[in-house]
Amino acid sequence: MMDWNNVLATRSSRMKASEIRELLKLLDQPDIISFAGGIPDPALFPAEAFKDAFSDALTTQASAALQYSVSEGYKPLRDWIAGEMGKIGIPCAAENILITSGSQQALDYLGKLMLSPKDTALVGWPTYLGALGAFNAYEPNYDRLDPKGNRAATDFAAAAEAAGGRVKFAYLSVDFANPTGETLDRAAREAVIDLADEMDIAIIEDAAYQTLRFDGEPIPPILALEIQRKGSIEACRTLYCGSFSKSLAPGLRVGWICAAHEIISRLVLMKQAADLHSSTVNQIVTHKVASTMFEPHVAKLRSTYMARRDHLLAALAREMPEGVDWTRPEGGMFVWVTLPKAMDGADLLAQSLKTERVAFVPGRAFYADGSNGNTLRLSFSCANEPQIDEGMKRLGRLIRANR
Ligand code: PMP
Repeated sequence: MMDWNNVLATRSSRMKASEIRELLKLLDQPDIISFAGGIPDPALFPAEAFKDAFSDALTTQASAALQYSVSEGYKPLRDWIAGEMGKIGIPCAAENILITSGSQQALDYLGKLMLSPKDTALVGWPTYLGALGAFNAYEPNYDRLDPKGNRAATDFAAAAEAAGGRVKFAYLSVDFANPTGETLDRAAREAVIDLADEMDIAIIEDAAYQTLRFDGEPIPPILALEIQRKGSIEACRTLYCGSFSKSLAPGLRVGWICAAHEIISRLVLMKQAADLHSSTVNQIVTHKVASTMFEPHVAKLRSTYMARRDHLLAALAREMPEGVDWTRPEGGMFVWVTLPKAMDGADLLAQSLKTERVAFVPGRAFYADGSNGNTLRLSFSCANEPQIDEGMKRLGRLIRANR
Protein backbone atom coordinates (compact mmCIF):
# COMPACT_ATOMS: atom_id res chain seq x y z
CA MET A 1 0.00 0.00 0.00
CA MET A 2 1.46 3.38 -1.00
CA ASP A 3 1.96 5.76 1.92
CA TRP A 4 1.31 9.04 0.16
CA ASN A 5 2.45 11.03 3.19
CA ASN A 6 6.04 10.08 2.32
CA VAL A 7 5.88 11.88 -1.00
CA LEU A 8 3.83 14.96 -0.19
CA ALA A 9 5.39 18.43 -0.26
CA THR A 10 5.10 20.47 2.93
CA ARG A 11 2.67 22.83 1.18
CA SER A 12 0.10 20.08 0.82
CA SER A 13 -0.44 20.03 4.58
CA ARG A 14 -2.14 23.42 4.20
CA MET A 15 -4.61 22.09 1.64
CA LYS A 16 -7.40 20.97 3.92
CA ALA A 17 -11.03 20.29 3.19
CA SER A 18 -13.05 22.67 5.32
CA GLU A 19 -15.20 21.29 8.12
CA ILE A 20 -18.31 22.51 6.35
CA ARG A 21 -17.65 20.83 3.02
CA GLU A 22 -19.35 17.62 4.05
CA LEU A 23 -22.40 19.49 5.32
CA LEU A 24 -22.61 21.52 2.14
CA LYS A 25 -22.70 18.35 0.07
CA LEU A 26 -26.18 17.77 1.46
CA LEU A 27 -27.50 20.91 -0.15
CA ASP A 28 -28.67 19.27 -3.34
CA GLN A 29 -31.56 17.68 -1.48
CA PRO A 30 -34.73 19.19 -2.89
CA ASP A 31 -36.46 20.17 0.37
CA ILE A 32 -33.57 22.35 1.53
CA ILE A 33 -33.88 26.11 1.08
CA SER A 34 -30.35 27.19 0.37
CA PHE A 35 -28.64 30.54 0.87
CA ALA A 36 -25.27 28.79 0.85
CA GLY A 37 -23.95 28.76 -2.71
CA GLY A 38 -22.20 31.99 -3.70
CA ILE A 39 -23.06 31.44 -7.33
CA PRO A 40 -24.93 33.37 -10.04
CA ASP A 41 -28.52 32.41 -10.83
CA PRO A 42 -28.25 30.08 -13.85
CA ALA A 43 -31.64 31.28 -15.11
CA LEU A 44 -29.91 34.59 -15.86
CA PHE A 45 -27.07 33.20 -17.98
CA PRO A 46 -27.06 34.67 -21.51
CA ALA A 47 -27.19 31.13 -22.90
CA GLU A 48 -28.70 32.04 -26.30
CA ALA A 49 -26.03 34.68 -26.93
CA PHE A 50 -23.32 32.13 -26.06
CA LYS A 51 -24.94 29.52 -28.29
CA ASP A 52 -24.79 31.92 -31.23
CA ALA A 53 -21.24 33.02 -30.35
CA PHE A 54 -19.95 29.43 -30.13
CA SER A 55 -21.69 28.54 -33.38
CA ASP A 56 -20.20 31.59 -35.09
CA ALA A 57 -16.70 31.00 -33.68
CA LEU A 58 -16.73 27.37 -34.78
CA THR A 59 -18.12 28.24 -38.20
CA THR A 60 -16.07 31.27 -39.17
CA GLN A 61 -12.82 30.80 -37.23
CA ALA A 62 -12.66 27.17 -36.09
CA SER A 63 -8.96 26.77 -36.77
CA ALA A 64 -8.09 29.69 -34.49
CA ALA A 65 -10.77 28.94 -31.89
CA LEU A 66 -9.65 25.34 -31.38
CA GLN A 67 -5.92 26.02 -31.63
CA TYR A 68 -3.30 26.92 -29.01
CA SER A 69 -2.99 30.67 -28.56
CA VAL A 70 -0.76 33.23 -26.83
CA SER A 71 -0.33 33.16 -23.04
CA GLU A 72 -1.30 36.85 -22.68
CA GLY A 73 -4.79 36.08 -23.94
CA TYR A 74 -6.95 36.82 -27.00
CA LYS A 75 -6.00 40.32 -28.12
CA PRO A 76 -9.51 41.60 -29.03
CA LEU A 77 -10.70 40.54 -25.55
CA ARG A 78 -7.74 42.28 -23.87
CA ASP A 79 -8.46 45.41 -25.92
CA TRP A 80 -12.12 45.30 -24.88
CA ILE A 81 -11.22 44.85 -21.21
CA ALA A 82 -8.68 47.70 -21.40
CA GLY A 83 -11.51 49.92 -22.74
CA GLU A 84 -13.78 48.92 -19.83
CA MET A 85 -10.99 49.59 -17.33
CA GLY A 86 -10.62 53.07 -18.86
CA LYS A 87 -14.30 53.74 -18.09
CA ILE A 88 -13.72 53.12 -14.36
CA GLY A 89 -10.70 55.40 -14.13
CA ILE A 90 -7.95 52.96 -15.10
CA PRO A 91 -6.46 54.12 -18.42
CA CYS A 92 -4.44 51.21 -19.76
CA ALA A 93 -3.69 49.12 -22.85
CA ALA A 94 -3.85 45.43 -23.78
CA GLU A 95 -0.25 45.05 -22.57
CA ASN A 96 -1.55 45.74 -19.04
CA ILE A 97 -4.00 42.83 -19.20
CA LEU A 98 -3.35 39.11 -18.68
CA ILE A 99 -6.30 36.78 -19.25
CA THR A 100 -6.57 34.14 -16.51
CA SER A 101 -8.81 31.10 -16.01
CA GLY A 102 -11.16 32.94 -13.70
CA SER A 103 -9.91 35.38 -11.08
CA GLN A 104 -9.26 32.36 -8.87
CA GLN A 105 -6.26 31.55 -11.08
CA ALA A 106 -5.15 35.18 -10.74
CA LEU A 107 -5.09 34.74 -6.94
CA ASP A 108 -3.08 31.53 -7.27
CA TYR A 109 -0.56 33.15 -9.61
CA LEU A 110 -0.17 36.20 -7.40
CA GLY A 111 0.45 33.99 -4.38
CA LYS A 112 2.96 31.97 -6.38
CA LEU A 113 4.64 35.13 -7.65
CA MET A 114 5.07 36.83 -4.30
CA LEU A 115 4.87 34.44 -1.34
CA SER A 116 7.81 32.43 -0.07
CA PRO A 117 7.08 30.15 2.91
CA LYS A 118 6.67 32.22 6.14
CA ASP A 119 6.03 35.48 4.33
CA THR A 120 3.00 37.42 5.48
CA ALA A 121 -0.13 38.29 3.51
CA LEU A 122 -2.36 41.02 4.97
CA VAL A 123 -6.02 40.02 4.59
CA GLY A 124 -9.40 41.13 5.86
CA TRP A 125 -10.96 39.50 8.93
CA PRO A 126 -13.11 37.88 7.47
CA THR A 127 -11.93 37.49 3.88
CA TYR A 128 -12.71 35.46 0.75
CA LEU A 129 -12.24 31.80 1.63
CA GLY A 130 -10.96 31.00 -1.87
CA ALA A 131 -8.18 33.58 -1.52
CA LEU A 132 -6.98 31.88 1.68
CA GLY A 133 -7.17 28.56 -0.17
CA ALA A 134 -5.13 29.90 -3.10
CA PHE A 135 -2.48 31.55 -0.92
CA ASN A 136 -2.21 28.64 1.55
CA ALA A 137 -0.38 26.54 -1.04
CA TYR A 138 2.54 28.98 -0.74
CA GLU A 139 2.76 28.53 3.05
CA PRO A 140 2.30 32.11 4.24
CA ASN A 141 1.30 33.59 7.56
CA TYR A 142 -1.63 35.98 7.70
CA ASP A 143 -2.00 39.23 9.53
CA ARG A 144 -5.15 41.24 10.01
CA LEU A 145 -5.78 44.17 7.72
CA ASP A 146 -8.44 46.51 9.02
CA PRO A 147 -8.63 49.36 6.53
CA LYS A 148 -10.85 51.36 8.91
CA GLY A 149 -8.09 51.55 11.52
CA ASN A 150 -4.89 50.07 10.30
CA ARG A 151 -2.00 49.35 12.60
CA ALA A 152 1.28 51.13 11.92
CA ALA A 153 3.40 49.82 9.04
CA THR A 154 6.27 49.21 11.47
CA ASP A 155 4.00 46.97 13.58
CA PHE A 156 3.02 44.80 10.58
CA ALA A 157 6.67 44.61 9.46
CA ALA A 158 7.91 43.60 12.93
CA ALA A 159 5.26 40.88 13.26
CA ALA A 160 6.15 39.49 9.81
CA GLU A 161 9.84 39.47 10.64
CA ALA A 162 9.21 37.68 13.93
CA ALA A 163 7.27 35.06 11.93
CA GLY A 164 10.30 34.48 9.70
CA GLY A 165 9.49 36.41 6.52
CA ARG A 166 8.25 39.77 5.28
CA VAL A 167 4.94 41.29 4.31
CA LYS A 168 4.43 40.90 0.56
CA PHE A 169 0.96 42.19 -0.16
CA ALA A 170 -2.41 43.32 1.13
CA TYR A 171 -5.38 41.44 -0.37
CA LEU A 172 -8.79 43.11 -0.41
CA SER A 173 -12.17 42.27 -1.87
CA VAL A 174 -13.29 45.86 -2.46
CA ASP A 175 -16.91 46.00 -3.67
CA PHE A 176 -19.73 44.01 -2.00
CA ALA A 177 -17.13 41.65 -0.61
CA ASN A 178 -17.43 37.93 -0.29
CA PRO A 179 -18.42 37.13 2.47
CA THR A 180 -19.62 40.38 4.09
CA GLY A 181 -21.27 42.24 1.21
CA GLU A 182 -19.50 45.36 2.44
CA THR A 183 -17.74 47.94 0.28
CA LEU A 184 -14.51 49.69 1.16
CA ASP A 185 -15.06 53.46 1.20
CA ARG A 186 -12.77 55.88 -0.57
CA ALA A 187 -10.86 56.91 2.55
CA ALA A 188 -10.14 53.27 3.38
CA ARG A 189 -8.91 52.66 -0.18
CA GLU A 190 -6.61 55.69 0.07
CA ALA A 191 -5.36 54.44 3.46
CA VAL A 192 -4.45 51.07 1.95
CA ILE A 193 -2.38 52.83 -0.73
CA ASP A 194 -0.65 54.90 2.00
CA LEU A 195 0.14 51.74 3.96
CA ALA A 196 1.39 49.85 0.89
CA ASP A 197 3.54 52.79 -0.20
CA GLU A 198 5.05 53.06 3.27
CA MET A 199 5.72 49.31 3.48
CA ASP A 200 6.69 48.94 -0.19
CA ILE A 201 4.32 46.01 -0.68
CA ALA A 202 1.83 45.11 -3.44
CA ILE A 203 -1.96 45.46 -3.26
CA ILE A 204 -4.20 42.73 -4.67
CA GLU A 205 -7.55 44.33 -5.48
CA ASP A 206 -10.20 41.62 -5.94
CA ALA A 207 -12.97 43.20 -8.00
CA ALA A 208 -15.00 40.06 -8.72
CA TYR A 209 -18.34 41.80 -7.97
CA GLN A 210 -17.45 45.26 -9.32
CA THR A 211 -20.21 45.39 -11.96
CA LEU A 212 -22.99 44.38 -9.54
CA ARG A 213 -23.69 47.74 -7.85
CA PHE A 214 -27.44 48.23 -7.24
CA ASP A 215 -27.44 51.62 -5.53
CA GLY A 216 -25.16 54.21 -3.90
CA GLU A 217 -22.28 56.00 -5.59
CA PRO A 218 -19.58 53.93 -7.32
CA ILE A 219 -16.20 54.30 -5.61
CA PRO A 220 -13.09 54.37 -7.81
CA PRO A 221 -11.06 51.16 -7.70
CA ILE A 222 -7.86 51.28 -5.61
CA LEU A 223 -5.90 51.06 -8.87
CA ALA A 224 -7.74 54.15 -10.22
CA LEU A 225 -6.96 56.11 -7.03
CA GLU A 226 -3.34 55.05 -7.25
CA ILE A 227 -3.12 56.14 -10.90
CA GLN A 228 -4.53 59.55 -9.86
CA ARG A 229 -1.64 59.90 -7.42
CA LYS A 230 1.14 58.49 -9.56
CA GLY A 231 0.16 59.51 -13.08
CA SER A 232 0.30 56.13 -14.84
CA ILE A 233 -0.50 52.47 -14.27
CA GLU A 234 3.18 51.73 -14.86
CA ALA A 235 4.04 53.44 -11.55
CA CYS A 236 1.41 51.51 -9.57
CA ARG A 237 1.69 48.64 -7.07
CA THR A 238 -1.95 47.52 -7.33
CA LEU A 239 -2.84 44.30 -9.14
CA TYR A 240 -6.51 44.48 -10.13
CA CYS A 241 -8.24 41.09 -10.52
CA GLY A 242 -11.38 41.12 -12.68
CA SER A 243 -13.76 38.36 -13.71
CA PHE A 244 -16.60 37.58 -16.10
CA SER A 245 -17.93 34.95 -13.68
CA LYS A 246 -20.50 37.16 -11.99
CA SER A 247 -21.35 39.30 -15.03
CA LEU A 248 -21.61 36.64 -17.80
CA ALA A 249 -20.97 33.05 -16.67
CA PRO A 250 -18.47 31.32 -14.34
CA GLY A 251 -18.32 28.10 -16.35
CA LEU A 252 -16.26 29.82 -19.06
CA ARG A 253 -13.44 30.46 -16.55
CA VAL A 254 -12.42 33.83 -17.97
CA GLY A 255 -10.93 36.51 -15.73
CA TRP A 256 -8.03 38.93 -15.89
CA ILE A 257 -5.28 40.77 -14.06
CA CYS A 258 -4.75 44.45 -14.87
CA ALA A 259 -1.45 45.95 -13.69
CA ALA A 260 1.83 47.57 -14.71
CA HIS A 261 3.30 45.92 -17.80
CA GLU A 262 6.48 45.01 -15.90
CA ILE A 263 4.60 42.65 -13.59
CA ILE A 264 2.15 41.44 -16.28
CA SER A 265 5.11 40.26 -18.36
CA ARG A 266 6.36 38.17 -15.42
CA LEU A 267 2.89 36.74 -14.92
CA VAL A 268 2.73 35.83 -18.63
CA LEU A 269 5.80 33.62 -18.10
CA MET A 270 4.10 32.03 -15.11
CA LYS A 271 0.95 31.37 -17.12
CA GLN A 272 3.00 29.88 -19.94
CA ALA A 273 4.65 27.47 -17.52
CA ALA A 274 1.42 26.60 -15.73
CA ASP A 275 -1.19 26.06 -18.46
CA LEU A 276 0.08 27.83 -21.63
CA HIS A 277 -3.09 29.93 -21.95
CA SER A 278 -6.76 30.06 -21.03
CA SER A 279 -9.25 28.35 -23.36
CA THR A 280 -9.04 30.02 -26.78
CA VAL A 281 -12.63 29.37 -27.77
CA ASN A 282 -13.97 30.59 -24.44
CA GLN A 283 -12.04 33.83 -24.78
CA ILE A 284 -13.36 34.34 -28.32
CA VAL A 285 -16.99 33.81 -27.32
CA THR A 286 -16.59 35.90 -24.17
CA HIS A 287 -15.33 38.74 -26.36
CA LYS A 288 -18.22 38.33 -28.79
CA VAL A 289 -20.88 38.29 -26.09
CA ALA A 290 -19.28 41.02 -23.95
CA SER A 291 -18.75 43.38 -26.87
CA THR A 292 -22.35 43.06 -28.05
CA MET A 293 -24.47 42.93 -24.90
CA PHE A 294 -22.45 43.46 -21.72
CA GLU A 295 -24.15 46.58 -20.38
CA PRO A 296 -27.83 45.64 -20.95
CA HIS A 297 -27.18 42.14 -19.65
CA VAL A 298 -25.51 43.34 -16.47
CA ALA A 299 -28.32 45.90 -15.97
CA LYS A 300 -30.78 42.98 -15.92
CA LEU A 301 -28.66 41.10 -13.38
CA ARG A 302 -28.49 44.18 -11.18
CA SER A 303 -32.25 44.73 -11.12
CA THR A 304 -32.99 41.06 -10.41
CA TYR A 305 -30.42 40.71 -7.63
CA MET A 306 -31.37 44.07 -6.16
CA ALA A 307 -34.99 42.96 -5.74
CA ARG A 308 -33.77 39.79 -3.99
CA ARG A 309 -31.48 41.80 -1.70
CA ASP A 310 -34.36 44.10 -0.78
CA HIS A 311 -36.59 41.13 -0.09
CA LEU A 312 -33.95 39.44 2.06
CA LEU A 313 -33.25 42.58 4.09
CA ALA A 314 -36.99 43.03 4.72
CA ALA A 315 -37.34 39.38 5.76
CA LEU A 316 -34.34 39.63 8.12
CA ALA A 317 -35.84 42.74 9.74
CA ARG A 318 -39.11 40.86 10.21
CA GLU A 319 -37.81 37.49 11.38
CA MET A 320 -34.53 37.94 13.27
CA PRO A 321 -34.68 38.16 17.05
CA GLU A 322 -32.95 40.81 19.16
CA GLY A 323 -29.16 40.46 19.28
CA VAL A 324 -28.75 39.43 15.65
CA ASP A 325 -27.14 41.93 13.28
CA TRP A 326 -26.49 41.93 9.53
CA THR A 327 -24.89 43.98 6.75
CA ARG A 328 -26.81 46.02 4.15
CA PRO A 329 -24.86 45.58 0.92
CA GLU A 330 -25.12 48.02 -2.00
CA GLY A 331 -24.58 45.21 -4.51
CA GLY A 332 -23.20 41.73 -5.07
CA MET A 333 -24.69 38.53 -3.67
CA PHE A 334 -24.10 38.39 0.08
CA VAL A 335 -25.44 39.47 3.45
CA TRP A 336 -23.29 38.72 6.52
CA VAL A 337 -25.08 37.88 9.74
CA THR A 338 -23.58 38.25 13.22
CA LEU A 339 -25.25 36.07 15.87
CA PRO A 340 -25.13 36.54 19.64
CA LYS A 341 -21.57 35.79 20.87
CA ALA A 342 -22.29 32.39 22.39
CA MET A 343 -23.84 30.98 19.21
CA ASP A 344 -21.90 29.09 16.57
CA GLY A 345 -22.75 29.18 12.85
CA ALA A 346 -21.48 25.65 12.21
CA ASP A 347 -23.59 24.21 15.08
CA LEU A 348 -26.56 26.12 13.77
CA LEU A 349 -26.09 24.69 10.27
CA ALA A 350 -25.81 21.13 11.60
CA GLN A 351 -29.07 21.61 13.52
CA SER A 352 -30.73 23.34 10.62
CA LEU A 353 -30.02 20.50 8.22
CA LYS A 354 -31.74 18.14 10.68
CA THR A 355 -34.73 20.27 11.56
CA GLU A 356 -35.43 23.50 9.69
CA ARG A 357 -33.79 22.49 6.40
CA VAL A 358 -32.38 25.91 5.60
CA ALA A 359 -28.73 26.21 4.50
CA PHE A 360 -26.09 28.94 4.76
CA VAL A 361 -22.32 29.07 5.13
CA PRO A 362 -21.00 29.27 8.72
CA GLY A 363 -18.62 32.22 9.03
CA ARG A 364 -15.58 30.77 10.78
CA ALA A 365 -13.91 29.48 7.59
CA PHE A 366 -13.63 33.05 6.30
CA TYR A 367 -11.27 34.01 9.15
CA ALA A 368 -7.59 33.20 8.64
CA ASP A 369 -7.38 32.25 12.34
CA GLY A 370 -10.69 30.38 12.47
CA SER A 371 -12.17 32.85 14.97
CA ASN A 372 -15.62 34.48 15.12
CA GLY A 373 -17.74 31.36 14.89
CA ASN A 374 -20.85 33.43 15.67
CA THR A 375 -21.25 34.53 12.05
CA LEU A 376 -22.81 33.23 8.85
CA ARG A 377 -23.08 34.16 5.19
CA LEU A 378 -26.36 34.32 3.32
CA SER A 379 -26.37 34.50 -0.46
CA PHE A 380 -29.45 36.01 -2.10
CA SER A 381 -28.44 35.44 -5.74
CA CYS A 382 -30.36 32.21 -6.32
CA ALA A 383 -33.33 32.50 -3.96
CA ASN A 384 -36.79 33.57 -5.06
CA GLU A 385 -39.12 35.65 -2.88
CA PRO A 386 -41.18 32.80 -1.35
CA GLN A 387 -37.95 30.92 -0.55
CA ILE A 388 -36.52 34.02 1.11
CA ASP A 389 -39.67 34.54 3.19
CA GLU A 390 -39.87 30.91 4.29
CA GLY A 391 -36.09 30.54 4.71
CA MET A 392 -35.80 33.55 7.03
CA LYS A 393 -38.83 32.47 9.03
CA ARG A 394 -37.13 29.11 9.65
CA LEU A 395 -33.73 30.67 10.39
CA GLY A 396 -35.29 33.12 12.86
CA ARG A 397 -37.05 30.25 14.60
CA LEU A 398 -33.83 28.25 14.82
CA ILE A 399 -31.86 31.18 16.25
CA ARG A 400 -34.58 31.86 18.83
CA ALA A 401 -34.54 28.19 19.85
CA ASN A 402 -30.78 28.48 20.49
CA ARG A 403 -30.88 31.56 22.69
N1 PMP B 1 -12.91 36.54 -5.70
C1 PMP B 1 -14.05 36.52 -5.01
C2 PMP B 1 -14.23 37.55 -3.94
C3 PMP B 1 -15.01 35.56 -5.28
O1 PMP B 1 -16.14 35.54 -4.54
C4 PMP B 1 -14.79 34.60 -6.29
C5 PMP B 1 -15.79 33.51 -6.64
N2 PMP B 1 -16.64 33.09 -5.70
C6 PMP B 1 -13.58 34.66 -6.99
C7 PMP B 1 -12.67 35.64 -6.68
C8 PMP B 1 -13.23 33.68 -8.04
O2 PMP B 1 -14.07 33.78 -9.13
P1 PMP B 1 -13.71 33.30 -10.59
O3 PMP B 1 -12.49 32.46 -10.52
O4 PMP B 1 -14.89 32.55 -11.04
O5 PMP B 1 -13.46 34.58 -11.37
